[in-house]
Amino acid sequence: MKLVLATSNKGKVKEIQALCKDYEVIPYSELIDEFEIVEDANTFKDNALIKARAVYEALGDKNAIVMADDSGISVDILDGAPGIYSARYGGENANDKDNMNKLMGDIKAKGVESSPAHYTAAIALVSNNFEKSVHGWMYGRALSKARGDGGFGYDPMFIPDGYDKTLGELDDAIKKELSHRSKALSLARIILKTLQ
Ligand code: IMP
Repeated sequence: MKLVLATSNKGKVKEIQALCKDYEVIPYSELIDEFEIVEDANTFKDNALIKARAVYEALGDKNAIVMADDSGISVDILDGAPGIYSARYGGENANDKDNMNKLMGDIKAKGVESSPAHYTAAIALVSNNFEKSVHGWMYGRALSKARGDGGFGYDPMFIPDGYDKTLGELDDAIKKELSHRSKALSLARIILKTLQ
C-alpha cells in the first residue's frame, strides 16, 4: 500500500519510513510542489488533520491515503510550552537548532538544569472515505544543555524515562522502540490493516 506523507521534515520522514517498511511511504513533495499549510488549530490532532486534508485535496487522487504527523515537546516547568508551537518556538523562520537553543535558554532562566517533559505525536490518516487520528507520547526530562547530535529537533536535549543519555546520544534503535511517533504509528498501522 502507498502512503503519502503530508510532511517534508527529513527527520520525521526518515523515522516514519523506518517504522513502516512494509508500506511505500512517499513524502508529498515528491509528487507535487510543496505548498504552505497554515496549521492554526489548537491541538496536535487538529493540526495533523489540517495537514492531511490539505495534501489529500492538493493531490487530486481519489485513491491516495495521506498520513500527517503533528508533534512537539511540552516542558512542565514552562507550563507545557512550546507544545503545538514547537516548530516555531525560536521565531517565524527558526530552524531546529534555534528552537532548541531558545528552549534550553528558557529552562535555564527558571534556575534549573532540567524539567520533566514529554513529546506528543498526533498522526492523522485521510482518504476519500475516512479520517482518523491517533496519538503517542514519550515521557522524560528536558535539559538546559544539549548532548549528542543524533535524532532531530529537540532530541539532543531530551532524556527518555529509564535512561541517562539524551536521544542525541542514544542509538536510533532505542528511539524507534520508545518514541511518541512509534507509539502513534503502531495504532495507525492497526487502522491501515483494516483497509487492506
Ligand atoms: P510539526 O512539523 O509542526 O509537527 O513540528 C514539530 C516540531 O517538534 C519540530 O520543531 C520538530 O523538530 C519537533 N519534534 C517533533 N517530533 C520530534 C522528535 O521526535 N524529536 C525531536 N523533535 C521533534
